This record gives sequence, structure tokens and C-alpha cells, in this order.
Amino acid sequence: MYSSIKSCVKIDESSITEMFSCNKGIRQGYGLSPVLFSLFMNDLPQYFRDDHCPGVMLGSHSLNCLMYADDLLILSPSPEGLQKSINVIKKHAEEWKLKVNTKKSNIIIFSGNGQTKNNENFQYGSETLPIVDKQTYLGIEMTSSGRYTYARDILSKKAYKVLATVKRLFSNSDTTTITIKNKLFDALVKPILLYGCEIWGPELLSYKTHFDKSTIEQVHIKFCKQTLNTPWYTENIACRAELGRYPLSIDIKASIFSYWLRLQHKTVNPLLKEAFHHAKNHSQFFDVLNNDETIRMHSTSNTSSQQDIKNARSSIKKQLKKDYIRNWLKARNNTSEGSREKFTHKEVKFDYQLEDYLRTIRNPAHRISMTKLRLGVHSLRIQTGKYENRGAPIPVEGRTCLVCNRGYIEDEQHFLMYCPGYDNIRMSSILSKTKQVKLAIVLCS
Ligand SMILES: [Zn+2]
Repeated sequence: MYSSIKSCVKIDESSITEMFSCNKGIRQGYGLSPVLFSLFMNDLPQYFRDDHCPGVMLGSHSLNCLMYADDLLILSPSPEGLQKSINVIKKHAEEWKLKVNTKKSNIIIFSGNGQTKNNENFQYGSETLPIVDKQTYLGIEMTSSGRYTYARDILSKKAYKVLATVKRLFSNSDTTTITIKNKLFDALVKPILLYGCEIWGPELLSYKTHFDKSTIEQVHIKFCKQTLNTPWYTENIACRAELGRYPLSIDIKASIFSYWLRLQHKTVNPLLKEAFHHAKNHSQFFDVLNNDETIRMHSTSNTSSQQDIKNARSSIKKQLKKDYIRNWLKARNNTSEGSREKFTHKEVKFDYQLEDYLRTIRNPAHRISMTKLRLGVHSLRIQTGKYENRGAPIPVEGRTCLVCNRGYIEDEQHFLMYCPGYDNIRMSSILSKTKQVKLAIVLCS
């Protein structure tokens, strides 16, 4: 079948190179190639067994290698065992006239504490294989500590790049509606951020630190602030609420939950089954599901088909969002009046949804002013009084209006409704723009 294959290289849309013979390997991009490759490599595990190479135990299975597409991962519980397995690979390659690319082959030692032993040495024939502390496997960065912090950092960096591109596309002409920006984030950035979250999510969600501080949610928060044009110190919760967005922890939990359902009800892969059994019974991997009351209630539901799993996933997401709103309302209502940033939002934000004014006010400058006023990141003295005294905040009653100088506290209500210093502007606005009356009413109701 492959005896008289001719190939060429496509240079650009219109030109290709001369045809040449290619007598090695399989056809690039051809549907049959992975099947042929699998058939060709199929006997490798038998080679490991024949040479008694020790594998890593997963339940009752001894694992010498994991093969996916053209990726080969060899596992061994000891340095001697690994060297033995490498020798087997070499033997297999020589017998089948394959060439192993040692430049793309690395050794990673999982030691739990992230420290590798310097005196280890692994040889492929006469070549020494490098020992690394980080290695990408199927798109996820593995580190010798066994933790995924670095993997998440890499995903965040990739996501920031896309976020910057999206920003560049719209920076000069801000005619794009916020609804489109929200959709772009969900379509382009979120999939990058959440890649493999079923695997790294349980670790992240088990941390005691607030989820908003994670590198993953930081990208999301940056997007919210970038979209609203508010400064970095604007309250995270308020920015998400203004856009009607939810923390990504909800998506992560829903993904882990649906992965759990798939493993529980659908998988036929014996290794996955074994790994699932181990994760369920001998590790804290799924604690994130067990500790969440909402998820626990859903996990007993009947899920036999792909559609059931889909439905369960969207219903858990809905429920988690409801829980989030309930907590948001509770936190908002408990906010003391001393906390000024929250106070403003408490007065003007009633429903957890994308605010209408973000869609209806077309002039970006007007829209941004409105957001800043609502989120308490304006330069009225009720805010600036906190900082203008070189770190020692001026008491609230001392943050008086310097425009009218009548001893009133310069807060949002005074600025919008009462300060005589703005009487002229206020009157002309009310007469000419009914929308601004609405604004004043909403802000002060
Ligand atoms: Zn005043």
C-alpha cells in the first residue's frame, strides 16, 4: 500500500514542491495513519512484560506505558526499572527500524516534594536523556511535585494573550457592545483557561485561599475591569455583578461533576475505571463534590445517557449560580454603611444581571462615568478622603464638599442631587435629557 507513495510539500495557497518518494513513516494528516501507527506500536507493552519491566501499580493493573496518538509515556516505580524500560524501547525500535527522537524525550521524577535527585542518569543507548522538572503531557504542564500550579499559570498566560488581542481589536472604536465582549470572552478565553480543569480543578478548589486570588479567576476579573473600564482596585464582586458574570469556580465545579458522572456511568476503559475507583476511595480528589451540598444532592440523580449527563451539568450550573446570588445578596445586605464601595452598589444594584445601561448608553465616556459612580471608584471626597491624608483616612464627616463649601459630605447623593455648585448643569441636564433624571433617581432611591 505504501510502496509507491509520492509526496510533496505545500508552500502557500498556490504552489507546491516537486513530488518525491517517501519510504518511511506514515502519511501526514491521513485518516488511516493513526490506525497504522497503533497497529505498529501495539506489541510494545508485550515487550515490557517479556523483559519483566516493573510497572506502576494502578489497582490490579501494572502500567508500563501510556500511549496516546503518537505520544509515548513510560512509567516506572524505580530508576533501575525505568532504565530497563528505556532499554526495551531501544530494542523495540531497532527491531522495527524506528528512530526515537531523543531531543524530544525527557525524564521527569515525581517525588512529592518537587525535589529531584541529581545523581540519577538515564541512557538511551549512548545518549543521556535530560531530567526535567516540568513536562507538557497532552496540553497540561506536569511538574515533579505532582501539583498543577504551574499548569494553571501557563493556561492563564495563554488566556491573557488572547485577552490582549481581543482588547486590541476594539480599543480604538468602542462601538462593540458589552454583550459581544462577554460572548467573546466565553468563546475565546474561557476554553483556554478551563482546559483540563477536571484534572487540576479539585486541587485548586481545595485551597483555603479565596478563589478570586487564583491565577485563573484573575484573568476573568481583569476582563471584567477591562470591559467596564474601571481601575484595578474596584471590588471584584461588584465588577462581576455589574456584567452579570459568575466566578469561573462554578464552571470548574460543573465540569468536575460531569466528569465524575461520565466516569461513574459511562466509561468502559478499565484503566480509567481503576483510576476513578482509586480517586473515589483513597484520595481527596472528589472532596470538592462531596463537600458541596448542592452537588451532593444532584449526584444521586439518574444519569444513564449522554443527554442525562448534559442535563445534569446544566442543572447543577443553574443551581450553583442561584446559590452564588443568594450569598451575594446576603453579603450585600449585611454590608455596614461604613464600607463605602459596597454601600453604593447596595443602593443601586438590585438584580444579578448585566445592567441595562451598559447596553443602552452608547457614548463610552458617559457609560464609564456611570459605572465608576455606581461602583464607587470616582473622585468624590467620600472616596478620596480615605487616601488624601497620606494613609491616615479622614473621618467620613470630615470628607466635605469643596465645590459648595457648605460643610456637606461630598457623597454620590450630594453630588448628583443637592450640591448647589452643580445647579446649572443639573437643571440643563434634567430639562434636556430625561435619562439623566432616571440616573439620579436610580442612584438615590
Ligand atoms: Zn457641594
